[in-house]
Amino acid sequence: MIITKQKSLDEILGMMEGKKSVFIVGCGECATTCRTGGEKEAAEMSAKLIEKGKTVTGSVIITAPCLELDTRRVLRQNKDAIEKTEAILVLACGAGTQSVAEAAICNVYPGCDSLFLGNVFRHQHFYEKCSTCGECVIGYYGGICPVTRCSKSLLNGPCGGSMQGKCEVDNKKECAWIMIYERMKKTNSLDNLTKVFPAKNHSAGTSPGMVINAGIRG
Ligand code: SF4
Ligand code: SF4
Repeated sequence: MIITKQKSLDEILGMMEGKKSVFIVGCGECATTCRTGGEKEAAEMSAKLIEKGKTVTGSVIITAPCLELDTRRVLRQNKDAIEKTEAILVLACGAGTQSVAEAAICNVYPGCDSLFLGNVFRHQHFYEKCSTCGECVIGYYGGICPVTRCSKSLLNGPCGGSMQGKCEVDNKKECAWIMIYERMKKTNSLDNLTKVFPAKNHSAGTSPGMVINAGIRG
């Protein structure tokens, strides 16, 4: 899922300077889980904006704003309120915000910053384990991603700087290469670590990504 954090009210008000009325769109999936754009956060945002003198013309939580056709349908259902608004504030990731921007005719503003594609460990504990590089190599590393989880993205690690199992770049994080070593030891596959892997093919992860009928990526 996409991990987001809500922007500060000051930043949101700064972006919407001069706009008096606003309609709020939230997200029923990722942003609800992150507590950045669910029912509760949309209601709280509405109250804050009203306190700052804005007119809130309405709000809606779209199940998943990144589903563009569904987003268009929900916005059509809220046409009357949206026609009265000068701005739409979206409490969702950048993908969801762009779905709204492409479907709406007024100014659309992001209420959240998108941080990473995250695994949910437990309530409000999110970890980045994949950075969608376009060519998955974890089969050579015991199922642990060195591209994302090693701070230096080393394919031939470790760097030698790890202290007590922690990464030298950020000692709050586990050293990915110690995890890889321990995992491969458990599965009797340490021999694989004697191989030297070529530099990562970064051209496989070109942006903007596109997949059509599961066949084309560009
Ligand atoms: S190798 Fe690439 S696709 Fe595989 S987990 Fe790591 S970042 Fe994701
Ligand atoms: S300490 Fe471990 S995770 Fe950190 S950069 Fe070095 S090899 Fe990578």
